[in-house]
Amino acid sequence: MNNKLTEVRRLLALHHEMFRSSIPLIASENVVSYAVREAMISDLGHRYAEGWPGERVYAGCRYIDEIELMTIELMKDLFGAAFADVRPISGVTANLAVFTAFTEPGDVMMALSIAKGGHISMGKKKFGGTAGAVHGLEIEYFEYNDKELNIDVDATIKKIETLISEGRKPKLAYFGGSVILFPHPVKELADYLKSNDIVVAYDAAHVAGLIAGGKFQDPLREGAEIMSMSTHKTFFGPQRGAILASTDEYADRIKKAVFPGVVSNHHLHTLAGLAIAAIEMKVFGKAYAEEVVKTAKKLAEELYNRGLDVLGSEKGFTESHQVLIDVTRYGLGGDIEKLLEKAGIIVNRNLLPWDPSRGLSYTNPGGIRMGVQEMVRIGIDSKHVDAVADYIYRVVVKKEAPEKVREDVKEFRKDFGKIHYSFDRVEDAYKYITLPGAAAGI
Ligand SMILES: *Cc1c(COP(=O)(O)O)cnc(C)c1O
Repeated sequence: MNNKLTEVRRLLALHHEMFRSSIPLIASENVVSYAVREAMISDLGHRYAEGWPGERVYAGCRYIDEIELMTIELMKDLFGAAFADVRPISGVTANLAVFTAFTEPGDVMMALSIAKGGHISMGKKKFGGTAGAVHGLEIEYFEYNDKELNIDVDATIKKIETLISEGRKPKLAYFGGSVILFPHPVKELADYLKSNDIVVAYDAAHVAGLIAGGKFQDPLREGAEIMSMSTHKTFFGPQRGAILASTDEYADRIKKAVFPGVVSNHHLHTLAGLAIAAIEMKVFGKAYAEEVVKTAKKLAEELYNRGLDVLGSEKGFTESHQVLIDVTRYGLGGDIEKLLEKAGIIVNRNLLPWDPSRGLSYTNPGGIRMGVQEMVRIGIDSKHVDAVADYIYRVVVKKEAPEKVREDVKEFRKDFGKIHYSFDRVEDAYKYITLPGAAAGI
């Protein structure tokens, strides 16, 4: 068995080496600081804390309770919220708790379709989406304007009017998405929705770090009552989730939906990591978010100038961390994703709003989605991103052998890797850390 153990560790080390020498552009990923990592290998990862701080089902939680209460206060402060539940263990779990708190199976919810940027957790039952398949919601889509790359306000109101006249009034309207280049019209729709007793929620999984840094829309100020999120995309946290609310009014239902609804224990090592991430956001979030948006715009512009079909060219390309390109002049998204990976450029293929109508599906769609947040955190920012655009151009447009570009990417990456926007910039983001005891055992 000892050699199996060695094999797992060898694969881990190889994974680290791959990322250490690549350009990370997955829009939903990031790296955490060493302070956050320290929390994640603490004893908290071995403990249970069910319930609310002070009302736990287990003993031994006195310090955990203090950490959780601190995390709640930090998150409320960062997002200007009246209420926070930091127990959901992921973004999907947070969303499922919101569905549970505000709807019954069979109710109607408004959300974006996947092709227009929606997440599968808001998906219909027939697609296996969490909202439909797990909570039994009927999903109706926001009307979307492909040219504006955003929700169409007037058409959406018309659609909801029709739903109301058919006796299918939505209970919940969920803004936010997995592809989100521009702020959603929360302000424009919130009053209308609320006047019809439709709860207004915003899924900030992708943009939480930009919201905390003051560089994207501020949903709770624009009329959203609820905001759910993942804590690890643009935010600095470990993989986890959270639910915030603009008032205390919904506190009891949210708490009950989270526990005992969708979590029992809630992975306390990452809870402590989230506390530290929130502190880092408070200190470094503004400068980080500014640089992320600047870098995304720059990457988009550099790709556009090299002839690539970057979405949103008439609107400044992007206001978030994401850049979206239509690659169909050069191949399909899935094939290009593989080619880029061979070159050490890690992106994901993505459906574009118009893909279903041209017969493309998510297995090999027409788009590539990139997010610059992890790059910025390791120092590849707006000053360096032209080089990244060049590598992408060489693979996608010039069709250079990816193995050749890989060598240049490796060389380029040598200058980057320290974790920026954190208290300790000494450490390498992708170092494979061996603890002394384990190392001695093999
Ligand atoms: C990533 C994402 C989620 C899911 O988050 P996990 O933390 O992976 O569970 C939910 N909603 C949106 C919009 C997302 O992009």
